Amino acid sequence: MNVCPVCERSDRTTKLSAYWRTLPAERRAGAPHLARPALDDERWTAPLGLLTLGCALLLSEAWLGFVGVAGGGFWLVSLRDKVAEAAKRRADWHRKRFCRRCHHVFLP
Ligand SMILES: [Zn+2]
Repeated sequence: MNVCPVCERSDRTTKLSAYWRTLPAERRAGAPHLARPALDDERWTAPLGLLTLGCALLLSEAWLGFVGVAGGGFWLVSLRDKVAEAAKRRADWHRKRFCRRCHHVFLP
């Protein structure tokens, strides 16, 4: 069993995801900090389009192509980082434990 770092007991700790599933809807609304982190609705089309437009402009030797390629590339990298962060938050949420005694959330 996992010992709660606050009350130092292990008899009432449970997986946060299991506890969350048992909560009725009205209690869930009152405890948004316990909810599974949402996946951001990431849109890949716009940065990919900008990158493609930049490449096309570069091929036609327009200087604006550099701006498009740099902007699209930067946008894609920052989007990738955001997606990785969200995935890590969700993975952590699945590992977290919940103490029913003192309502503390912790990673084992
Ligand atoms: Zn506790």
